[in-house]
Order: sequence, then C-alpha cells, then structure tokens
Amino acid sequence: MGSTIFAEMSALAVATGSVNLGQGFPDTDGPREVAQAAAAAILEGRGNQYPPGPGIPELRQAVAEHQRRFYGLSFDPDTEVLVTAGATEAVAAALFALVEPGDEVIAFEPYYDSYAACIALAGGTRVPVTLRAPDFRPDLDAVRAAVTPRTRLILLNSPHNPTGSVFTRAELAAIADLARERDLLVISDEVYEHMVYAGEHVPIGSLPGMRERTVSISSAGKTFSFTGWKVGWVTGSAELVAAVRAVKQFLTFVSSGPFQYAIAEALRMPDDYFTGISVSLREKRDLLCGGLAEAGFLVYPPEGTYFVTTDIRELGRATGVEFCRDLPHQAGVVAIPNAVFYDDREAGRTQVRFAFCKRPEVLQDALARIEKWALAR
Ligand code: PMP
Ligand code: GLN
Repeated sequence: MGSTIFAEMSALAVATGSVNLGQGFPDTDGPREVAQAAAAAILEGRGNQYPPGPGIPELRQAVAEHQRRFYGLSFDPDTEVLVTAGATEAVAAALFALVEPGDEVIAFEPYYDSYAACIALAGGTRVPVTLRAPDFRPDLDAVRAAVTPRTRLILLNSPHNPTGSVFTRAELAAIADLARERDLLVISDEVYEHMVYAGEHVPIGSLPGMRERTVSISSAGKTFSFTGWKVGWVTGSAELVAAVRAVKQFLTFVSSGPFQYAIAEALRMPDDYFTGISVSLREKRDLLCGGLAEAGFLVYPPEGTYFVTTDIRELGRATGVEFCRDLPHQAGVVAIPNAVFYDDREAGRTQVRFAFCKRPEVLQDALARIEKWALAR
C-alpha cells in the first residue's frame, strides 16, 4: 500500500526544498505554558505509564467543561467522554463500533482521507454526497435521496476539510431531521470547531433529539497547535461512547499519557485564547487568498478550517494532480490536489488545496515563489 497523499507531499516538500502548504500542520507550536505542562507531567511521572483506558479523569472533566462552556452541552465525564489517539482514532473506532459489513455510510465528499479507508475497513459502503464549487453547500435533497434501508449513519465534518465550508444551523437541522426520521446515527468530526471566519460552529449533537444518536469528535491538534501529540476525544451518550471505547481498547488501548495532563490544562484557557485562534488565522487566510487570486487562481475563500480550496483551470494544467506534481519542482511550493478526496474525480479535477496555518513570512515566501512561476509560465 502506498503512503497517504499527506505523507507523500510532505516528503516531496523536503526533497525539493519547497514551502509546504500541503499537509495541514502549523509551523509554530502552541502555547508555551501548555508545552511546559507536558514537560512537567513527564518529569513528575504523570502519565508515563499506561493511563486509564477512557483517558485520565482530569482530561475527561476538562472536555466536559469545554462542551458546556462553548455549547451549553452536558456530558458525564465518567461515561460520556472518551480520550482517543487524536481524532483519527476516534473516527476509526466510531466507524468500527457502529458500522456492520454491508451497512451504508453517507459522507460528504471531498472527504478527509481516513474516512474512506475506515469505512472500507469496517466492511461498510460509502455513499458520497458531493459538495460542489463555488459554495460547497450540502445538497439536502441529495442527502435525502442517498438514504436507503441499508443506511446506518451519516459522517459529517464541519468546518469541512478541504473546502472550508461551515454547515449552517439550518443545514444541520435538515440533516438532523432526516437522521431522526430514518433512525440514523451521526458521527460528527468537529476538529476545526474553533476555526470559523463566517457563521458559527454548531455541534449537530446539540440539536433536538440528536444527543442520543450523535458521536461528536474533536482533538487538541488543531485547537492548540500540537498536532504531534495526538490527543483527541469523543463525546456522546453513554451507550455510544461505550461502543466506541470497546473498539478503542483494541486499537491503541491508551495513548499520549503526559500530553493528556497538558491538554486538560489547555482546555481551561481563557476565552480570548479560543477567539484569538480565528482572529490570527483569518489574517493568514486573507493574505494567502489574496495572493493566490492575484497569481491567477480561482479562490474559494473558506468559512472555516485552515485550508483554502482553489481552482487552477486558468493556470495551464489540465488537472490538480498534474499541477501539484509540477509545482514543487517548478515553483518550490507544495499543495494538495483535492481530486484525491473525491469518488467523483470530475468534481474535484481542477481543485487544489493550500494550508495557511503558517507564519506570515512563510506565506509571503510561498506567494512570491508562485507569482514568479506564474509570470514565467
Ligand atoms: N479529521 C479531519 C477533518 C482532519 O482534518 C484531521 C486532521 N488531520 C483529523 C480528523 C485528524 O485529527 P488528529 O490529528 O487529531 O488525529
Ligand atoms: N489533517 C491534515 C490535513 O488534512 C493532516 C492529516 C494527515 O497528515 N493525516 O492536511
């Protein structure tokens, strides 16, 4: 089996000395006090041996407090919160727990690459509903039409990677109505919950009748800029969380011991930390979007996440895949072709994703390289 597109493109960035706007990871670490809390936990011997299976109580409590503070939701930290090895494991464990061979899973494409892999590993069949340019709104009639007697669940991701679309309350309410009507479960990947520039993040689990049918997932990687720590979590009803926990114990059993202590502290940071995330990323979004538009890209400004999807059809390449293969060699910049996130390759054929979670000078450098390339073309 080959490596993922992210690993492949990051390796290409290193090999070609390119600015890496492909794989989504910040180039500045998160808050120093959080790093110090992790160092202190290691040195003081907290979490260096296997932590408790569901996660340390301090972190489960902090996750429950976070859900109450930002969304007014209440979860019992003992039975309704589970700590995972990043959101990646949470998505995998939730799918393995809830999908039986032959079940259909509706997911909005383009999708994050682990979704297709884990639905397949669970023996399920993915049923894509396509988010289409320029707005990437969910087509609610298409979602309704996609439901069959075999549909088990809807896998949601808002704010959405890679399009940056943030589903509105009305869109989520329509999906929730359908879930209740057809007795479907929802897995809701909310890792970009604090990165929203237009509209608001609404957890679908907060809508009427959805608590008992929603597995909500988030992680510390994006919110605190420590993607390497792999601390994620699941919240939901005791029954659903128990099902996910039963699988999780045979995937990693436990993970990230000392980092769990640090993230428990991080989740309690004051409100201005959380609002500040979007403020600083919005500037970076505007910088990158403006520069790419000037260089001839068709830009779809994102409402959330730290990615921008563009269209390269005016830039002399037939497909985003060709474009992204050439760009590191010719311009010294790495990006990701969105086609790899679609079943309907035609829909994403000319789309290319750039990450803007980088220092402004790095974004400037990338833009200068791209502009030079665009002029010389
Ligand atoms: N879901 C989405 C939509 C993502 O973009 C990411 C980021 N890699 C993940 C899940 C995985 O998060 P983590 O690094 O916490 O495993
Ligand atoms: N979530 C990040 C992205 O979409 C990276 C994930 C990964 O490397 N698997 O770029």
